[in-house]
Amino acid sequence: MKMKLCLRKSICLLLLAASIPNVMAQEVAPKNDESQVKVYSILWQQTAAEYRALCYQAFNLASLRINDIPRRQLRKGNLAIVTDLDETILDNSYVGAQLIKENKQMNGAEWDRWTAASKVTALPGAVEFLKEAAKKGITIFYISNRETSAIQSTLIDLKRLGLPNADEAHCLFKSTTSSKEVRRNVVEKDYKIVMLMGDNLTDFSTAFEKNSIQDRFDKTDLDRKQWGDKFIVLPNCNYGEWENALYDYQRKTDAEKAQMRLNLLKGY
Ligand SMILES: [Mg+2]
Repeated sequence: MKMKLCLRKSICLLLLAASIPNVMAQEVAPKNDESQVKVYSILWQQTAAEYRALCYQAFNLASLRINDIPRRQLRKGNLAIVTDLDETILDNSYVGAQLIKENKQMNGAEWDRWTAASKVTALPGAVEFLKEAAKKGITIFYISNRETSAIQSTLIDLKRLGLPNADEAHCLFKSTTSSKEVRRNVVEKDYKIVMLMGDNLTDFSTAFEKNSIQDRFDKTDLDRKQWGDKFIVLPNCNYGEWENALYDYQRKTDAEKAQMRLNLLKGY
């Protein structure tokens, strides 16, 4: 009898021991490792009051700049602010978070599912600043690399959030090229651009397109007087041209990306 009980106890312990690694493995080794790389940056965007403060700082600075514009210049009625949308005015961190929870990677279908849900929010201070600029008679143009076919669905959100100039004429979305220079030139035909806003340096100048990390540094230094003046930058440590530069603008496997990230870390 005693031996039978001992045997039963041992079997139970063995079964328990066998089940623990499986549960732990599920928790620590998700199917899609690459998506987990974004956990920290998305958490920063969603939970760090420091991120919130940086957004307010950017829009407060932008507000000071437009207050510096002389009235006679405003009266001409031809001044424009060109702004990007995603992670400059609109917070899309939710889609990244959802994909991590669902163990999926971003693709066109997932992006469409997110925008169709119409749950995007505005960055802290964004709506107030653009309304203030519009009230001064400055026209707002939204130059975004969302597809042109997404203008109507985006306008639903821009109107819901109360953004000024939320109509087709003021949305210059991507049709043929992701470079925004051509679209900035279209605005400049009739307007004087007094400010550019973006989270990605390509929102400001072609000089930043497809450049190496060092070139991006050098060109940022060349324009040092423009930052916080004509160029207002919003923080985005989640994605952007900086991330493409990490991988030399090439398609890489997840393992290659992980290695390239490690190689770029500067120790001392
Ligand atoms: Mg953006």
